[in-house]
Order: sequence, then structure tokens, then C-alpha cells
Amino acid sequence: MQKEPIKTLKTCLAFMVLVINHMKNEKIGFIGLGVMGKPMAVNLLNAGYKLTVWNRTRSKMDDLLAMGASGAESPKEVAEKSDVVITMVSDSSDVEEVVLGPQGVIYGAHEGLVLIDMSTISPTVTQKIAQELYAKGVKMLDAPVSGGEIGAKQATLSIMVGGPKETFDRCLPILQVLGKKVTHMGSNGMGQTTKLCNQIICALNIQAVCEGLMLGAKAGLDLKKLLDVVTAGAASSWMLSNLGPKMIERDMRPGFKIKHQQKDLKLVLSFAAEIGLPLPGTALVQQMLRAVEAEGLGEQGTQAAIVTMEKLAGKKIS
Ligand code: NAP
Repeated sequence: MQKEPIKTLKTCLAFMVLVINHMKNEKIGFIGLGVMGKPMAVNLLNAGYKLTVWNRTRSKMDDLLAMGASGAESPKEVAEKSDVVITMVSDSSDVEEVVLGPQGVIYGAHEGLVLIDMSTISPTVTQKIAQELYAKGVKMLDAPVSGGEIGAKQATLSIMVGGPKETFDRCLPILQVLGKKVTHMGSNGMGQTTKLCNQIICALNIQAVCEGLMLGAKAGLDLKKLLDVVTAGAASSWMLSNLGPKMIERDMRPGFKIKHQQKDLKLVLSFAAEIGLPLPGTALVQQMLRAVEAEGLGEQGTQAAIVTMEKLAGKKIS
């Protein structure tokens, strides 16, 4: 009597396995193996995707090659060998270079190719790149991420996506390997616009953590106890939990580099100027971080923001 439902269930399961295997037949190319790109590429490889990688500094490809990825000589060659190419480089001009430059992805374009740019760059430049790609028959998604190096390693990123819905649907299984939350925000540029909102909230939050710790230090509180108690209350945040302890322990290794935070705040303020929006808090934090850069700390993590506050206060927190 119960044989039919079991047979149906088995057929469904077999179909699901077929679909999953088909998805994994997508050949993926990965360009940019920095702090974020490398662990993301590792996660795709571990999930069973065939991966071709390229990094400007070639030595950063070695670990991925040892794990079974193929190497390419250029972004163009990555595109030729892939169905979906992911870029995770630094700024707008860098994405333009690896996508539209002389050895760029666009010159390896072929029927069905999709580009997913996961770097944080300008929404306006994103729309321009998307138009150039569409003219060659290549679809694009802008899919910047939030969650830091730890989120990239643990595949718990939040991914905010702009681009055609059918391209989003096709690429969703790939993005779900990289993040725990993947959200379609609208047309090309809307993923990047969402990320700019995210960066405003992050930047002001870093400043808040610095000021809270400074007051505690100046007034003689035990900062570890302070962190412990406020993390359990309404002041709790990713920045507080992840960067607060690093500030106290003076661990300034990146994570998210000050220079990238500044790049993002520049994108925010320039976009806000385009749409006529005042952002006084963001402008203040950008100036505070400029002072950190002036100390030669641009390659350090954003927790190094505490250094400027310490100079203003004439006191180190630890
Ligand atoms: P990163 O460690 O500095 O790595 C940057 C990568 O981009 C490197 O592989 C670099 O190659 C490559 N690159 C830069 N300019 C290039 C160019 N013109 N041509 C070719 N390759 C180029 O940066 P990351 O922390 O991984 O950040 C990558 C992106 O993710 C940025 O847009 C950042 O804002 C965003 N993001 C970062 C975090 C974070 O916590 N780190 C979080 C969310 C979003 P080389 O190795 O040759 O230098």
C-alpha cells in the first residue's frame, strides 16, 4: 500500500539531485583573490563547482590551484573558460579594468555568459558596465556583500543583488554557496545602492564603538567588562562584537581595510551629492578616517579608527 508514495518520493529526490548536479555544471570563473575573494573561491570549489581563477598578483592563485582550481592568464581567458564569472576586486576603476580593459572579461564574451560583480563600487559605473556587457550579449548582476572576512570564510555573507530577475534566479544557487541571505533588490545598480546604505550604517557604528570605548577608558572602566555588558543589551552590533575586542587588544590586522572603508564613503558621499542628500554623520566619519590614513594606517582594519580618537583624547584605551 505504501509503495507508491515512497516511489514518488524517490523520483522527486532523484530529480532534485539531477537539478543540483546540473547547477554545479555551471563553470565558474573567479577574478580577485584578496581578503574576501580567496575564501569565497574556496567555498565554491568545496561546493563542487569547476573553478578557473585569475589574480593580478599571480602568487595569490597558488593555494586555489593546489586545491584543484584551474588558472588563467587573463580575465579574458577566465571568461572564455566559464559560464559565470565573478569579480571581487577593489574599486570602480578596477572592475572596469578587469571587465572592459584590453584583456578584460568582455573580450572572452560568449553566448550565455553572466558576470557577477561582488566588489563594492559605484552604482552609476555599474549601470555603465552592465550596458556595455548587454551590448555584447552578456548579462550582469551587481552583488556586493556584507559580513566581512569572517562572513566570506563561513559563507554567511548577506548579498544584495541588482540585475535582471531571470539572471538572479539562474545564479541564486551559486550565490547561496557564498552567503546565508541573498536578496534581489531590483535592476542593475540597486545592489550597489543597497550596499552604500549598509556602509553608512557600518561607518557610523564604528565611530560609536570608538567613542563608547574612549569614554570608558578615560573614566577608568574595565573595558572587557564594558564590552561584555553592553554587547548583551541594546547597543549590541556586529561592529561592537567583532571590532571592539580588536581595538582593546590592539589587533589592527584587516578584516576590512581603512582604505576600502574610505573608498566606500567616497562612493556614498558622491552618490548623495548626485541626488542632493545631506549626510552630516557620514561626512564626519570620513574625515576621522582620513586622519587615520594620514597616520599611514590605510592598509589596517577599520578598528584602527580608534587611533584618531586616542590622539584627540590624549589617551590610549589599552
Ligand atoms: P583586498 O584584500 O585588497 O583584495 C583586492 C583584490 O582585488 C586583490 O585580489 C587585488 O589584486 C584585486 N585588484 C584590485 N585592483 C585590481 C586591478 N586594477 N586589476 C586586477 N585586480 C585588482 O580587498 P578585499 O577586502 O578582498 O575587498 C574586495 C572588495 O570587497 C572591495 O570592493 C571591498 O570594498 C569589498 N568588501 C570587503 C569586505 C571586507 O571585510 N574585506 C567586506 C565587504 C565588501 P592583487 O592581489 O594583485 O592586489
